[in-house]
Amino acid sequence: MKISKVEVGFVEAPLITPFKTALRTVHSIRNIAVLIYTDNGLIGIGEAAPTHVITGETLSSIRYAIEEVIAPSITGIEIDEIALLCQKIDACLYQNTSAKAAVEIALYDLWAKQYNAPLFKLLGGYKKNITTDITISVNETDEMVRDSIAAVKRGFSILKVKVGKNPVEDVERVMAIRKAVGPDITLRVDANQGWTAKEAVKIIGQLEDKGADIELVEQPVHYSDIKGMQYITNNTYTNILADESVFSPKQAIEVIEKRAADLINIKLMKTGGISKAQQINHIAEANGIACMIGCMLETKISVSAAAHFAAASKNVTMVDLDGPSLCSEDPIEGGPIFEGENIQMTDAPGIGLLIEAYLAK
Ligand code: MG
Repeated sequence: MKISKVEVGFVEAPLITPFKTALRTVHSIRNIAVLIYTDNGLIGIGEAAPTHVITGETLSSIRYAIEEVIAPSITGIEIDEIALLCQKIDACLYQNTSAKAAVEIALYDLWAKQYNAPLFKLLGGYKKNITTDITISVNETDEMVRDSIAAVKRGFSILKVKVGKNPVEDVERVMAIRKAVGPDITLRVDANQGWTAKEAVKIIGQLEDKGADIELVEQPVHYSDIKGMQYITNNTYTNILADESVFSPKQAIEVIEKRAADLINIKLMKTGGISKAQQINHIAEANGIACMIGCMLETKISVSAAAHFAAASKNVTMVDLDGPSLCSEDPIEGGPIFEGENIQMTDAPGIGLLIEAYLAK
């Protein structure tokens, strides 16, 4: 079963409410979709999100990378040679991780379809159900409290609260949410690089003293400030999660060696797909560091692939796959079932998405 054609298009989905972090505001998702065809008629699907503030990639750069660079380097190769294919994708471009991820996802989809098995089972098959948090965008405190209460009413028991836009107000924001949702809801805080190291230690210390009971704080400082991450990790009790600081296995090793975080957030758009996501998870696991699986603003296509990776991986204990929950409609049917905070894996082959029905639309 050889790769015969790689096709690139767009996938779109409107968001229920604008997605706001310390880095950006987004109103609707417009991503790249990749279809890979084989000589025996199977089709695999993948997706890339143009998160230029984080990965440096745009719709045009992703399209160019896939059509002009990656596709020629993999066409004609057997799907069964999945490790070789991943190596080729990695070697043909420096960075461009989301473009690589889209192609890798489509290849893993085909690889599992070839065996008529769901991808998560071939990757390790550790669990059939996972529980995701949902993002609360950074806004005025009142609006964040309203959004948090609405999320809890939708059935979410874990909230990821975006902060970092105005450090002075962040403690007030988080405390107001804690008061509104009560003690049983898990709160994660994501500063998206919005604080300095000293601000972070002060803010996290205040949250600890006030009993905010935060499960973790994600990427408090600039991605390149590994010393700052180390300072915060050493000077707070709360677990610190590295997100933008870790794209590659090499960066994961650096963060772990320097004890610059307690946890690592893996996203397929940062790692370049499933193969490197597995490597980072293995490195972390060997060092006693648990991982989160996260996503960018992605639709069900690539988020479903991330769910397969998470369901296969014992060390991935935290799930932040709220992309589909933030969209007002799904662009594609099938795949893992997203119901409130529950993501249930199915036995459909590959990633499980109904590509033929999607193409017929
Ligand atoms: Mg983050």
